[in-house]
Amino acid sequence: MKTTFQNIKGTFDILPDRSSLGGAEGAGSATWQYVEATIREVMRRFAYEEIRTPILEPTELIARGIGQSTDIVSKEMFAFERGNTHYVLRPEITAPVIRAYLQHHMGQSGGVQKLYYIGPCFRAERPQKGRYRQFHQFGVEAIGSDDARADAEVIALMMAVYHALGVETSRLRLNSLGDEHSRPRYKEALRQYLEPYRNDLTETSRQRLERNPLRILDTKNEKERRLLDGAPLLIDAIDDESRQHYEDLKAFLDDLGIAFEEDPYLVRGLDYYTRTAFELESASLGAQDALAGGGRYDLLAQDLGSKQRVPAVGFAAGLERLILALAAQGVELPQTPPLDAFLVALGDEATRWAFHQAQGLREAGLRVSLDLKGRSMKAQMRAANRQKARFTVIVGKDELAAHQVQVKDMESGEQVAVSFDVLTNYLNERKFKILNSKS
Ligand code: AMP
Repeated sequence: MKTTFQNIKGTFDILPDRSSLGGAEGAGSATWQYVEATIREVMRRFAYEEIRTPILEPTELIARGIGQSTDIVSKEMFAFERGNTHYVLRPEITAPVIRAYLQHHMGQSGGVQKLYYIGPCFRAERPQKGRYRQFHQFGVEAIGSDDARADAEVIALMMAVYHALGVETSRLRLNSLGDEHSRPRYKEALRQYLEPYRNDLTETSRQRLERNPLRILDTKNEKERRLLDGAPLLIDAIDDESRQHYEDLKAFLDDLGIAFEEDPYLVRGLDYYTRTAFELESASLGAQDALAGGGRYDLLAQDLGSKQRVPAVGFAAGLERLILALAAQGVELPQTPPLDAFLVALGDEATRWAFHQAQGLREAGLRVSLDLKGRSMKAQMRAANRQKARFTVIVGKDELAAHQVQVKDMESGEQVAVSFDVLTNYLNERKFKILNSKS
């Protein structure tokens, strides 16, 4: 038996101050904060606003939104019951956002709602590198427009996030799934094409043949891939309007200089997509190479009970995969700012003075730390070093009597006496001098 508790498999702790980026689990909270701040900054530029929805949602919302036959709903939900209510830990955030949009009549103004989110999601998948049971997604939804420019903007925004972080992406795949009329027709055509080969299919695909033949298109099985070579293509089967929409989207992406590859087999694992579907990959990720995916979902709102059709398009991206790609590509991240000052005190009175003084320096905006366990002066000096303090402020009996402290510059080793009343200014001025000389 283990003597202490461990985190649940497929989850991980994000600890402070991990300088080595040994994968998503190895990244420290400073890295996560930096990545999240950069995402928020890109969202700001594109004028998307944040929405935060609960982690708990009604199971029925997710089942209806994502689709009963999907892997997520049929196998991967963390769901439970209390009283008569069925709860699920959200496995994705699009259905919750559309729920909130409908519930709060956010479409009333008639414009396009441009929303973004960042937060944890839960799927009971087999944990492996790049695949977790609790992971984090960021994403956007542009709700209320049919226009292919909305699709192009969402894709441009997605690309801008990776660009802003300096992550190289390898392939943006694009397809159109057609509308609610052409898609069932295509499903049927595909089913009929595959039916004679039923016995050549894997067990999973055989099940999908009944429930969701489209998903067979993204099989990785070589034999199945060869079978599919002769299958009718989605793109040939879609309706004229969807085809025009797809052409428009491709033209907008060309205008924006965004490279893409058309992939007639791209379908994605969620049922709600209509027309546009896309997926972004990174070559530095290994088996779990999908950084982000998305598409248009014009029918989702109605699936969730809306009387009106609410056209919408969005993407969702994994934060762990993004951080893994950053690490694999050796992207240099800004380091946590070191301490401006560490206060070292000797003797009771000086310790009391330092504790009080730290408060004043912090109010002035400086990042300051000091000993909290009554350690020796030597141990305090070591702590100042370890915490990479820019200056160490030393105070003992003699200094107290003289109303001054010894300020040691930890880079040059130089030490000067500074009087109590100018200490804040002294540290602040040097802080700004350092900041300015760096920029
Ligand atoms: P999806 O909602 O399945 O389209 O997923 C969107 C993105 O979320 C994927 O491209 C991945 O980057 C990420 N993702 C999905 N599932 C997981 C998981 N179990 N662990 C880590 N990241 C995931």
